[in-house]
Amino acid sequence: MERRVSTVDARGILFDLDGTLVDSLPDIIDSFLHGFAHLGLPAPAHAEVRALIGQPLDVMYSRFAPEHVDALCVAYREHYPRNFLNRSRAFPGVETVLRTLRERGYLLSVATTKRSDMARRFVDALGLGGLLHHVQGTDGFPHKPAPDVLHRALAAMGTRGLWMVGDTTLDLRAGQAAGLRTYAVTWGTHSHEELASATPDELQPDLERLLAHLPPLG
Ligand SMILES: [Mg+2]
Repeated sequence: MERRVSTVDARGILFDLDGTLVDSLPDIIDSFLHGFAHLGLPAPAHAEVRALIGQPLDVMYSRFAPEHVDALCVAYREHYPRNFLNRSRAFPGVETVLRTLRERGYLLSVATTKRSDMARRFVDALGLGGLLHHVQGTDGFPHKPAPDVLHRALAAMGTRGLWMVGDTTLDLRAGQAAGLRTYAVTWGTHSHEELASATPDELQPDLERLLAHLPPLG
């Protein structure tokens, strides 16, 4: 991927997707559990699955059925695209925040552990695609907390980054590793206490403080 170094000012704001921009955890859990039923395997509890969301699918399945990871991933990838909009919605205020930041001159990208093709379909289906400059998934390179997906998102937009926004400590550590300020939202996967352990710059129940940090660019 070409890195456009001519744009030297930092305008990049990166967002995790599931549990950060979108309340998608119920649909993900349903599809995750579908795999066990499909293969006739005993299923884990909802809470056990929820605690792992944000990690790659194969890592999540390996915690419960290491012998069946490949088949479970196939079943998930067949089920999820047909069911990912059953209950998933953007969190309140997300569209307004993205539109406002865009109007203020910032460059916005998703940086998710989902694969890029799936992330793009999901974002477009929820009507957020037109508000984002880029959607970066994790396609065969190290996942968060490694900063690779953040670096790729910023390179694709040709800017340096300012903030990483996420709902897990994986997002926060990835943001810190990429040299960004980190903003934790408490409406997703990890608890307030768990998020606090990663010492984000902001730990909030909404995105209002993000707007306060990011005035219109001149
Ligand atoms: Mg997340």
